[in-house]
Amino acid sequence: MLKLAHYSIGVGDRFGHQARAQIRAVQALKNQGVTVVPVWNKSFREHSLIGTHPADTRRAADAAVAEEKWTSGYFLDADHISLKNVESFLPTSDFFTLDVADFIGKPVETADSEAFADRHAGLTGRLSVPGIAHPLEIDRATLIKVASRYLAAIRAAGNLYRHIAAAKKTAPFVTEVSMDETAAPQTPVELLIILAGLAEENIPLQTLAPKFTGEFHKGIDYIGDPAAFAREFDEDICVIRYAVGRFNLPGNLKLSVHSGSDKFSLYPHIAASLRRHGAGVHLKTAGTTWLEEVIGLAAADGEGLALAKRIYRLAQPQFDALCVPYATVISINRANLPSADTVDAWSSQQFVGALEHNPACPAFNSDFRQFIHISFRLAAELGAVYTDALKAHAAIIGEHVTGNLLERHLKPLFLDR
Ligand SMILES: [Zn+2]
Repeated sequence: MLKLAHYSIGVGDRFGHQARAQIRAVQALKNQGVTVVPVWNKSFREHSLIGTHPADTRRAADAAVAEEKWTSGYFLDADHISLKNVESFLPTSDFFTLDVADFIGKPVETADSEAFADRHAGLTGRLSVPGIAHPLEIDRATLIKVASRYLAAIRAAGNLYRHIAAAKKTAPFVTEVSMDETAAPQTPVELLIILAGLAEENIPLQTLAPKFTGEFHKGIDYIGDPAAFAREFDEDICVIRYAVGRFNLPGNLKLSVHSGSDKFSLYPHIAASLRRHGAGVHLKTAGTTWLEEVIGLAAADGEGLALAKRIYRLAQPQFDALCVPYATVISINRANLPSADTVDAWSSQQFVGALEHNPACPAFNSDFRQFIHISFRLAAELGAVYTDALKAHAAIIGEHVTGNLLERHLKPLFLDR
């Protein structure tokens, strides 16, 4: 088993040009004494929308790691894969996020749920989990209910893991199971029972991405009650630690937070829990590196700003189509989107102010930000026009990519102050 470090961060890089700038951010944090291992995650959905291949991500990451002389490890994550789309990731990925959310609630035989409850009868009653103030109350009915809801997903994870392990032969890899892209959050009790099931499948699970309470929309802050999240996150950490011992799961098993990026209001709570329990975490920041590319282009003014405006003008009439793949993870109020003519009249500063995630800035427009977030396909369709601009403005874009990752994400979450 390839072992994932205590702290790791999923850094999306849709066009494969920002890996060096991303490494500079983790290097700067390492220089301050905290090592966070970068994991380049890109889903099948993103590859197909952009027209790239997992091997491209591998090439870009390998080259950047060599150029920046990063020595603390890195991974290539086949993000949110299933049996339907895993094949193209097998040769070059060494981290697999098994997305089994679609199997949640798929029916299983009543006898299977009952047998599961029989095997785990030891969990029933008042269960004292170190770190959680009140004992967990689990009865047989709960075991059966959770089993009937999650057994199909647990088995799907097992099947997918075994498929990957067979294909990878002796090549080691990290396994994550994700259940986040679903409507209802999993409670700490459900998490414990799910872990019992995943252990039965003999999955060497290193990260688990549950669906947490609240909304995790792309590129904007958390929507919900941060205090409720904080309680749940803290209890999840305790449940994981308990499950590791009880079900003999890998000792470094940790939570994976699929943040959709920019959950700034949760970072203090996550950081406090990690420190309280000495726990690790994997944070996926998704595609905000793409937004930093657009911000960098706009900040470059001249041709760069013109290209940023052109992407917005091209995206506007495709609003509905662009929203479809992300419908469950965005909440764009279309009435707040400026017209393309309005944006065309913006200065460099106005464009950057509207797009950059700085809630204190009066010009910040979170609807505009979410819409640009999902508009990367238009940049992909521009082909070399877009990627040549990334090269021409690499310095200023790189500063934004590094600064965003370091100052808004890595330092608030991982730097002990
Ligand atoms: Zn996710």
